[in-house]
Amino acid sequence: MNLPNFNTAVNNSPFYQIMIIKTPLSEYLNNNFLIMKAMILQSVTSMEANSKPLSLTSLPVPEPAENEVLIRVSACGVCHTDLDEIEGRTPPPRFPVIPGHQVIGKVDSSGKNVKDLRSGDRVGVAWIFSACGKCKYCLEGRENLCRDFMATGRDADGGYAEYMTIPADFTYRIPDVYTDSQAAPLLCAGAVGYRSVKLAGIRDGQTIGLTGFGAAGHLVLKIIKYKYPASAIFVFARSSEEREFAIQLGAAWAGDTTDRVPELLDSIIDTTPVWKPVVAALENLRPGGRLVINAIRKEDADKDYLLNIDYSRHLWMEKEIRSVANVTRGDVREFLSIASEVPILPEVQEFRLEEANHALKELKDRKIRGAKVLLIR
Ligand SMILES: [Zn+2]
Ligand SMILES: [Zn+2]
Repeated sequence: MNLPNFNTAVNNSPFYQIMIIKTPLSEYLNNNFLIMKAMILQSVTSMEANSKPLSLTSLPVPEPAENEVLIRVSACGVCHTDLDEIEGRTPPPRFPVIPGHQVIGKVDSSGKNVKDLRSGDRVGVAWIFSACGKCKYCLEGRENLCRDFMATGRDADGGYAEYMTIPADFTYRIPDVYTDSQAAPLLCAGAVGYRSVKLAGIRDGQTIGLTGFGAAGHLVLKIIKYKYPASAIFVFARSSEEREFAIQLGAAWAGDTTDRVPELLDSIIDTTPVWKPVVAALENLRPGGRLVINAIRKEDADKDYLLNIDYSRHLWMEKEIRSVANVTRGDVREFLSIASEVPILPEVQEFRLEEANHALKELKDRKIRGAKVLLIR
């Protein structure tokens, strides 16, 4: 049997403290507590100073509350937002925390109020861990804007572990066409990408640009091709490899971030973590066009670039900028249904749970071709 690592970080975990108070070690050994492997974040840190921000540890398997399910995790996507949590742009409210918000697994057990899910059902978990269900936003179906929005892997433990718990109403059935690792990136890059396409508000035949062509970008391209088959897609990407990939996937044009398009575009979706593409995209928008920024946080490294904004060139003529915040359960469900009809099969690069730091470092260094996924078992 594995024993937990008795290190300081784990001792600080509220869960672990409860275990210590209620369960002396002898009793713990006698009772054969279930133990799981998890990659935990112990504090905010910079990836430049610390290329291994997560540590592998052993923790007790959590127990589902009355309305929750315990999921045995099989795959978890690695997302740029995980870096935002680690580096403090959207910091977790408590430590240690288990990151990961694109989770695929099987229901292991359920709380007594869970009626619709059985042990063995395959489910997914997305960025939305829970919302209050009572506020104006929740009642309007805009639970992504709820003040009590909780994010998986930030405000509650996520899927960089063998098990996790979540309210049953915040899980999704996964279409059979997908393997676990193919399905994982659909739950964030795909679902948030789908929301950004909705917010772009184009009609079929209107032109649309994508700036940035990582995991989110290539899924967004596939969504656009399905929803708006007559719309030409223009891709802006820094590396020639990404530009070639975009053309292979059906983009009408691909250029560098600051290249000018042959014709001004009706809408552009930005999936980058930085500012230069935002300024460049505004210049490529037609009058009345809309830029949708699909990022939970932007990095500060090139923030000075915003000083290049010239009101008449970049903003005047009723150009709009709109951000995308989180996702609703409706976005995730609609997207999974569309994705399986197309079908959208994400390109994935698989890692073991223990290699999470390596996957995150590659993401930080923009070594991206498709979506990175941790295989848990
Ligand atoms: Zn994400
Ligand atoms: Zn609410």
